[in-house]
Amino acid sequence: MTATDGFAVVRADSEFKLVALRDFPAGSRLFAVEGQITEEPTRYSVQVGAGIHLDLPGGHAPEELMDRFFWRFTNHSCAPNAQLRGRDFFALRPIEPWQEITFHYESTEYEMAEPFDCHCGESACRGRIEGFRYRTEDEREQLRPMLADHLLSMLNVVHR
Ligand SMILES: [Zn+2]
Repeated sequence: MTATDGFAVVRADSEFKLVALRDFPAGSRLFAVEGQITEEPTRYSVQVGAGIHLDLPGGHAPEELMDRFFWRFTNHSCAPNAQLRGRDFFALRPIEPWQEITFHYESTEYEMAEPFDCHCGESACRGRIEGFRYRTEDEREQLRPMLADHLLSMLNVVHR
């Protein structure tokens, strides 16, 4: 799958973002993440399992990155419209053409390689985004509907 299959990487205000080019119903599969498996998270990696991160392979031209590894331009939102399940992203709600695709970075990252202050403007905004590890039990519970499997299993352990 490439970015031409319904997605585009857009640069606006010196920031890259991933947008949908067509309608995606709630619950539909959006795209897969592919890359190099590493144990060390980076600014660009996404966590897909306990101690497993997918990072961008080196040595690719910018055009190829945008075409084949466009998942890496998926930005964080505290009220996202996508979630990671396994190694695929799914729509949490209906997505329309030109809407930005976002996910909650703390729904995949146990510990962020580069924590940052979020300015998404959503009422649910948490401010400092540093990883699932730093969320309270209540905050973890709020993330439950969008949690990736490896963090969901941690949540379930806590409650048993
Ligand atoms: Zn936010």
